[in-house]
Amino acid sequence: MEVIKRIEEIFKELLTLVGEDPGREGLIETPSRVARMWVEELTTGYKVDPNDIFKYFNIADDYEKHDDLVIVRDVPLRSLCEHHLLPFFGYIHIAYVPNGRIVGFSKLARVVDVFSRRLQVQERLTNEVADFMFGKLTPKGVMVIAEAYHTCTIVRGVKEPMYMVTRAARGSLSNENSRIEVLALLNLAKGKQVLNIDLRSI
Ligand SMILES: [Zn+2]
Repeated sequence: MEVIKRIEEIFKELLTLVGEDPGREGLIETPSRVARMWVEELTTGYKVDPNDIFKYFNIADDYEKHDDLVIVRDVPLRSLCEHHLLPFFGYIHIAYVPNGRIVGFSKLARVVDVFSRRLQVQERLTNEVADFMFGKLTPKGVMVIAEAYHTCTIVRGVKEPMYMVTRAARGSLSNENSRIEVLALLNLAKGKQVLNIDLRSI
């Protein structure tokens, strides 16, 4: 593929410019491996329209009468910081009050993946997921909380927080009381082991 070939050349040049020998044994396949990783893994979100992968289920009218809350915890988040091109990673938690529609966990995870596998800042990513959910699922309210470690601060030894939490809320979950309730429920679910499986190790 032409793009991968060109990126490979760029990484070969980068290695030379920092004083390395791209021809030595340990590095000989690195430019092509890194080029493939960039195109086939780290930036695949540019090629996918989240509208194409999102599916919801209609639920019975009965549910709509109550302002019940759905919380999905620990959706994996892996992204690249647009300022340093270094990874940030963690979890996204999504809470929403259904309004006739619900969504499966795997679809949520894919939506998060599409927005994550682009160059991002955590604040925008959080907002993009919230806006998408709000527009597509049309819930009464939605809240998205992202928590992530930023390797750009870790590897550079920057004395600023390397762990960041961001929140975006829309609709009925925008108010103070909802915020407290969602955070309390998230904490309640934290660390619980379901079916005796450590979900974080899967
Ligand atoms: Zn950064």
